[in-house]
Amino acid sequence: MRPGAPGCAGVVINLSLRRLALAATLPALALVGALAPLPPRAVERWFSTGAYPAIQHVVTPLSNSLPIAVFDVLGIAATIFVAVVLVRGVRTARRDRSARPLARALGVLLVGSLAAYVWFLLFWGLNYRRVPMTERLRMDGGGLAPAAVVQLGRDAAGQLNALHGEAHAIGWHEQPMDDGALRRGFEEIQRALSDAPPAVPGRLKPTILGPYFRWASVDGMVNPFGLEVLANPDLLPFERPFVAAHEWAHLAGYADESEASFVGWLSCLRGGPAAQYSAWLLMYWQVNAELSQSERATLAAALAPGPRADIEAVVARLRRGEWPLLRNAGWQVYDQYLKANRVEEGIRSYGLVVTLVLRATFDEGWMPVRREIRERPHAPWPLS
Ligand SMILES: [Zn+2]
Repeated sequence: MRPGAPGCAGVVINLSLRRLALAATLPALALVGALAPLPPRAVERWFSTGAYPAIQHVVTPLSNSLPIAVFDVLGIAATIFVAVVLVRGVRTARRDRSARPLARALGVLLVGSLAAYVWFLLFWGLNYRRVPMTERLRMDGGGLAPAAVVQLGRDAAGQLNALHGEAHAIGWHEQPMDDGALRRGFEEIQRALSDAPPAVPGRLKPTILGPYFRWASVDGMVNPFGLEVLANPDLLPFERPFVAAHEWAHLAGYADESEASFVGWLSCLRGGPAAQYSAWLLMYWQVNAELSQSERATLAAALAPGPRADIEAVVARLRRGEWPLLRNAGWQVYDQYLKANRVEEGIRSYGLVVTLVLRATFDEGWMPVRREIRERPHAPWPLS
């Protein structure tokens, strides 16, 4: 169409309206996502057991098939994008002696961040708002009896002593995904917890974040933009099944840390002796963190030399790699991230797996019992 031809102005107005609508969509979506009080039942129904499994069933197999981490590619691309936008903005601002190009560059970065946030929410992050495990399962009321925590620690020590020889004789898969029994256990526990189709497990992938994981004592993470599992390169063989199963639980939409540990632990208990050993090692570790110094000493004395050597090897791994300043800063950032995603306990939520294990009701073979989720009776309308 020629300039000035009839209808051109209409096109211009339509185009600018469309751009305006497009420009307003992202901030609006981000704002709704961040602030809207989404009912957990609706999130559970439409997202966590609806749209999310459909996304995960496509994205995780794709990520698994790639030799490198999607997270690394996205991270490098995002860094280059930010650098190019900023350098261009500064250069043009200098040349034109105007602050407007710089403001425009910052605007582009803001829109980019909002897009990333919306992507995060719609790909995985909304799982933070689903029905919590404490409402999903039949739970004992009341607080935790300290004696029950100590007993769980003793059980963990007993299991480690009993499983150590067989677990070490069998050995551990480099890729827990290759452990058929563990995968079946993961599937079984997912079916017990929700009606969603079971999630596809993720391969443990190396990442350029590996050194950061080592310095900050991070065992692994799920990339929420690519639904893949990134692992610390120094994990010891007997740590890998539990770390994998914990991250798989995140892939299954259990975003909360204690819930992911709960699901990962129960999945490993359904695996062979090697995976079970990994699970009880985690439980020993978690209970230990809840105890007084004298109780810890008593618990440590209950360990046979084999499991004790394995725990000392984990401690040595952490000490060798950690960079305390970075570790503390990293965990503080993660604490803030969890709180921003409505996990009030922040990083303390890791320890709540002990509470879940002790308060949940189980059928035989550590099978958690789901609570009947009753819909609330409809409120009379109009409300008075
Ligand atoms: Zn986690």
